[in-house]
Amino acid sequence: MAVHYKDYYEVLGVPKNAAQKDIKSAYRKLARKWHPDANPNNQRAAEEKFKEIQEAYEVLGDSEKRKKYDVLGSDWQRAAQQAEQQRRYRNAQSAQGAGPFGFEQFSTSGEPSGFSDFFDLFFSGMGRQQGTRRTSARRGGDYETTIQLTLRDAFEGGTKPISLQIEEPCPTCGGTGLLQQNICPTCGGTGSIVTNKRFDVTIPRGVRQGQRIRLAGQGAAGAAGGPHGDLYLVADIAEDDQFTRKNDDLYIDLPVSIYDLVLGGEVRVPTLSGDVTMTIPPQTQSNQLLRLGGKGMPKPRGQGAGDEYVRLLGTLPTKLSDQERDLFRQLAALRDGKP
Ligand SMILES: [Zn+2]
Repeated sequence: MAVHYKDYYEVLGVPKNAAQKDIKSAYRKLARKWHPDANPNNQRAAEEKFKEIQEAYEVLGDSEKRKKYDVLGSDWQRAAQQAEQQRRYRNAQSAQGAGPFGFEQFSTSGEPSGFSDFFDLFFSGMGRQQGTRRTSARRGGDYETTIQLTLRDAFEGGTKPISLQIEEPCPTCGGTGLLQQNICPTCGGTGSIVTNKRFDVTIPRGVRQGQRIRLAGQGAAGAAGGPHGDLYLVADIAEDDQFTRKNDDLYIDLPVSIYDLVLGGEVRVPTLSGDVTMTIPPQTQSNQLLRLGGKGMPKPRGQGAGDEYVRLLGTLPTKLSDQERDLFRQLAALRDGKP
């Protein structure tokens, strides 16, 4: 992302030492002038200009943000580089994955500012100063990431440790981006750092593809004492080599001899809870489905389990001996009603 410096003083047409009240009145005048409703013939350009003015006032109209902006000044590029490095570090970490499942980069579901990249990099994390003084408490954003599971993980459920990159308020500067009138060296002025955090995730038994697992209070930190957001893990269940899942039922293909199909017999069948013995009734057709009741995936909220369906694939004998060939001929002749 290419970040360009924004000269907010120039945008509002005020000197660097302007008083807060002069900044406010300059903003009001410009906002009235460039309001899109006041520029019906020039709406697009007016909208752009209006947004620019709002962005400038969002920073200069807030004493905390203005202080940080003034400190950034000539140093802003170094700070931006540092912030960029943080971001790269995070992306590299995410690409490597971690924990038994690996993970993908989380995305915050917080609302984008709609302002410039410059604003987003340095000021979006700072609370908006409402009216007179303090920012009001605000709940932190939710995080969402995918969690890779095997079908067996989904079958068994239980607690799994995962490790995620989480953005947190910078401990050095407390999230302001400033340290004794300087850009904070830890976070590069962004006010947040990325840390590795371990979570113990409880996988519900029978979790389905795309299901969201909520970890309450494990999302982004709130502003001004507001509560943390939540962390959502979206289950991404890998396709299994043996089993195909349809809702809570499982399907498996099982090669069996034609003798077991014709004469009936007992076969071993894999299930997710271990092999079981299944009886094939005499004169069963190839491709027929036999049902193993309750051997499918656990249903939500402990309401029993689905079934496992076994598709019997009759396999024909090869490399017949002369005697076998003779016997098959006899069988064929009997079928045709010949002696
Ligand atoms: Zn910091």
